[in-house]
Amino acid sequence: MVANCLKCRKIFNKIKSPICPECQKKEEELFDAVRLFIKENPNTSMEEVIEETGVTKKKIIKWIKEKKLDLVLTGENAIRCSKCGVVISSGNICEKCSKSFIDTVNSLQSKVVVEKEKRLSHAMETAKRRRK
Ligand SMILES: [Zn+2]
Ligand SMILES: [Zn+2]
Repeated sequence: MVANCLKCRKIFNKIKSPICPECQKKEEELFDAVRLFIKENPNTSMEEVIEETGVTKKKIIKWIKEKKLDLVLTGENAIRCSKCGVVISSGNICEKCSKSFIDTVNSLQSKVVVEKEKRLSHAMETAKRRRK
């Protein structure tokens, strides 16, 4: 499929990405530069990263949300847990909430299992009674 690159508007053979291989390569290089900068300056702020690497704020936030970057955002740019609002470094919900979410899922699952077993033993009882 032929499409226009989202970034440079050049026509290219679209396979998966909405941007052409050239822009994709540039994007990867930019990402590497950002990652390297953060690695060398672990306590850096997002403003500094933008200044040093020329990356856009939107892109940084996207990468952090995709868990590609290990940068904790603070202040107005902070990513917050969608459940309790605590500041988190990546993803959508904090560790505590994701743990309690897993707990809830687990307890739900065990409930379902118990219900199933009950129904099964009831069915067996009924079958036994019928045989007599
Ligand atoms: Zn392009
Ligand atoms: Zn939370």
